[in-house]
Amino acid sequence: MYSKELFNANAQQLCDVGRFLFGRGWSPATSSNYSARLDEQHIAITSSGKSKGELSVDDIMVVDLQGVATADHSHQKPSAETLLHTMLYQRDGQIGSVLHTHSVNATVLSRLYAKQGHVELEDYELLKALRGISTHETQQALPIFPNTQDMVALSAQVAEYLEKNTVIHGYLIEGHGLYTWGNSVAEARRHVEACEFLFECEVLTLQLRR
Ligand SMILES: [Zn+2]
Repeated sequence: MYSKELFNANAQQLCDVGRFLFGRGWSPATSSNYSARLDEQHIAITSSGKSKGELSVDDIMVVDLQGVATADHSHQKPSAETLLHTMLYQRDGQIGSVLHTHSVNATVLSRLYAKQGHVELEDYELLKALRGISTHETQQALPIFPNTQDMVALSAQVAEYLEKNTVIHGYLIEGHGLYTWGNSVAEARRHVEACEFLFECEVLTLQLRR
């Protein structure tokens, strides 16, 4: 069972990462949600509807891996997308943090490549910022799932995809945003930064080629 100190430390990390991601314009208008693992059965996660640039520890709550708030956080409202977080923690014991953002570039690319079902990222040096990749000479496909308000269906669809495919720690939802994860908040944040850099390169390249 996690301690109060562990909760506070993780909650503070989520507040700090929120300030960073909001500051970059990747979590506008109270969108996005962030989480960190506390123990085998619990995660700390942002509660619904808060500006991600102004989070305090009181805006973070604890849910179990079924997405149910613990008794001392039952007054807080979990994000509608909590299931998309808990599914990842259930599947992979190595995951320590999940970050979900709503940037312009992720949104635009996810719509542009929705029919294709993935965004291809190839030969970029910054792919090496993603855990497990050690050379730019690689081609990675970031899957895109159709957007829906049915989180049970979407989390099942993502889980099925992850069962069959090796994915570079992330996926897009069409017209919506990016989910990425890592073994810590710091690693998940690095993955967001890397993905956003690569998305910006893709969008700029498309603009210049016109
Ligand atoms: Zn979202």
